[in-house]
Amino acid sequence: MRVAVIGASGRMGKNLITAIHDADGISLGAAIVKPGSSLIGVDAGEMAGVGKLGVTAVATLADCVNDFDVLIDFTTPTLTLENAAFCAQHQKAIVVGTTGLNDAEKARLNQVAQQSPVVFAPNMSVGVNLTLKLLATAAQILGDEYDVEIVEAHHRHKVDSPSGTALRMGEVVAEALGRNLKDCAVYGREGQTGARTQKEIGFETIRAGDVVGEHSVWFATEGERIEIVHKASSRMTFAKGAVRAATWLNGKAAGMYDMQDVLNLK
Ligand code: NAP
Repeated sequence: MRVAVIGASGRMGKNLITAIHDADGISLGAAIVKPGSSLIGVDAGEMAGVGKLGVTAVATLADCVNDFDVLIDFTTPTLTLENAAFCAQHQKAIVVGTTGLNDAEKARLNQVAQQSPVVFAPNMSVGVNLTLKLLATAAQILGDEYDVEIVEAHHRHKVDSPSGTALRMGEVVAEALGRNLKDCAVYGREGQTGARTQKEIGFETIRAGDVVGEHSVWFATEGERIEIVHKASSRMTFAKGAVRAATWLNGKAAGMYDMQDVLNLK
């Protein structure tokens, strides 16, 4: 199976190239950087620091259309949608790790998934996906009596907030409690906000330094608090998960899948 990485020179892109290099049964077919980038023509393995791989970076998907079966995309929402449409048009699968897609963009990605297989997950780490399952169980057992708050921290370069992972955690908890996150989410608090309402789910965001990604979900009531915490210490955890998703997609029918499908957690 040949995998292409778009955004190959990005923080995730380099980790993805390394993870593909380390994995069995798949190989790097193509690496795509920004049009006009000084890295066009540079060996992707050298870019990622794993030595020469014999795959040189190109500027567009059209430049490497015959060189890959599945695309891994950790870029920006607008670019991801263009790439997904390209993959559908050329019968290729796509793994999307990009976060910050709005509802309309998610709907467009769902349309693409009717034509070709898509794995879309705001967090590809195995640990986070297990955490989602633990959160659903906790919420079901604890019920409305416990206040839910989600605190997340990421590096100073992250452009969307709260993180896609924090939002997914909120959705999972809300669903388990029979709520709609859109109706009960409260993002940040400042000034005379009044007392907390019983069913709100609060989000707090920290952006600082080089934090790879930390999420803490509180379930608190009079007399006790449970915290379910996940801390990522290396982007390789996301990259390995994305490579696992790419491998899993081999031979899958068109459709929208997530990491819970890939890890058989449903
Ligand atoms: P990043 O370092 O900014 O990487 C994005 C890459 O996309 C950059 O290399 C950028 O190139 C490239 N790019 C932009 N426009 C392009 C174009 N037209 N053609 C080709 N490449 C283009 O960001 P990151 O930290 O890797 O994160 C990327 C995304 O993944 C974010 O949405 C982030 O939240 C998400 N993420 C998801 C997970 C997960 O598990 N799902 C984990 C980590 C991150 P330039 O550098 O030249 O601009």
